[in-house]
Amino acid sequence: MIKCQVVMDAMDRLAPRYLAEDWDNVGLLIGSPAQDIHKILTCLDVTENIIDTAIAQNYDMIISHHPFLFRGIKRIATDKPLGRMLQKLLSHNIAVFAAHTNLDTTFGGVNDVLAEKLNLTDLKPLTISYREEIVKLGVNVPAEFADKVREAIGRAGAGAIGNYKDCSFQFSGQGRFTPLEGAAPFIGKQDKNETVNEVRIETIMPVKIKNRVIRAMLKAHPYEVPAYDIIPTQNVYNENGLGRIGKLQMPMDIMDFAKMAKQNLPGDTFRLVKSNDKPVQKVALCSGAGVEFLDKAAMQGADTYVTGDVKYHEAQHAQELGINLIDAGHFGTEMPIAQTLADYLQKENTENKWQIEITADTTAKDVFTTI
Ligand SMILES: [Zn+2]
Ligand SMILES: [Zn+2]
Repeated sequence: MIKCQVVMDAMDRLAPRYLAEDWDNVGLLIGSPAQDIHKILTCLDVTENIIDTAIAQNYDMIISHHPFLFRGIKRIATDKPLGRMLQKLLSHNIAVFAAHTNLDTTFGGVNDVLAEKLNLTDLKPLTISYREEIVKLGVNVPAEFADKVREAIGRAGAGAIGNYKDCSFQFSGQGRFTPLEGAAPFIGKQDKNETVNEVRIETIMPVKIKNRVIRAMLKAHPYEVPAYDIIPTQNVYNENGLGRIGKLQMPMDIMDFAKMAKQNLPGDTFRLVKSNDKPVQKVALCSGAGVEFLDKAAMQGADTYVTGDVKYHEAQHAQELGINLIDAGHFGTEMPIAQTLADYLQKENTENKWQIEITADTTAKDVFTTI
């Protein structure tokens, strides 16, 4: 058994809240971070079926992709579907958590799972909604303490760039200072100007770990008042957004590609807009309802776009742009995430000895049926 907060923290590591779009409603929607969790059910949507299953099988937490509560609620009418479902959840003390656009965007999230089902490689985000802010740290240290300070800031996460860590630059110089009355200088005496051989260490870090790195630097630094500065940069190392664009290892005929999509995805409705005669190779996608990024996909040279919830005029627009469009359904492009969520939490469960049960819903079906 664990506290709900522990699960929330694990979910935030998988799909950080800062990746969610502004309009979204993510996180713990019902329940308390302090409540005990024994059994988690992961799913795409919190439907009445899911709630009844959770009650019957003693689940105490539901983690879904689509937020159960989205718009403001002014009354809870228990004779209407939403009120009835809320009443069931609250009276059985079932916590409800949503990871929505943050889970679509995060690496390994809904879009990457969809790309994997379509056998795409060399994936890049189709849109950019998040850029990690990078700052530069410069600190002056007496030469004999340089290793200690460099190691401390490296351990705190500074200087990590892609597949490299502990990146820094260092040069030598002289530090000068005059200790005043009341100072307790590491080197030097009161009212006497001091010159010390120092090195300057420079490195970069994401702004989100800035405080941790400064704390580590101050702890390792021998001076009472270390000289350091934090400078904003425009460096870009980590950016992400909705949708993906990638490649097929071997070009395919559009009909074969569409059939493969149908075979590998769980939806019941698949529609194809054929707009060119080229073999399919460069494919863009956006899970759920992502037709708004069709122009971006065409602009980036995709020959085919896969998403859900496509309307008539949007399909016509794909033809005008000369890009194939596959509507694999909102359900079809997103349902696989329920299993991914359960697998991720199961790994956390085992590694951290949570000793809880986690199950992915496999009963949900596409709301649309092909006649
Ligand atoms: Zn989604
Ligand atoms: Zn969706």
